Amino acid sequence: MKLVYELWVEGHKLEGTDGHPKTVLMGHATGLPPGLEAALLDKEPGHYRITLPPEPHNPALRVEVSASELPEPPRLGGGYSGEGPEGQPLLYRVVAIEGERVTLDANSPLAGKALEYRLTILSVRPAEPEELEHGHVHGEGGVQH
Ligand code: ZN
Repeated sequence: MKLVYELWVEGHKLEGTDGHPKTVLMGHATGLPPGLEAALLDKEPGHYRITLPPEPHNPALRVEVSASELPEPPRLGGGYSGEGPEGQPLLYRVVAIEGERVTLDANSPLAGKALEYRLTILSVRPAEPEELEHGHVHGEGGVQH
């Protein structure tokens, strides 16, 4: 499947293919978010708007600490590696600083926000058996070998 897309979040364009078509082998590590890939299966060429539901914002991953507890002075947008409630490694971003009080958040920056994909499917063709075997696209927009 050959497509161009833009990702919009809260009215802002976050990323896109900037007019350069992306060729993907559906079902094989397309690099597309899984929810988007699922929504595109069996679609014909054309224009689509697909909104993916937000990833939930986990309140347990938002913590307030005092600046003196941190290994180095906090700055907005900075980060600290730490552990989550179950001991999993996480990156905590500094999202607010009020005097000594620092709010850290290990949620994805997109958590709680709906992702709107505006996309155009330019063409769809069945995958060649060899492509399925290799797990990637051959030829234009893919691996040349
Ligand atoms: Zn190959």
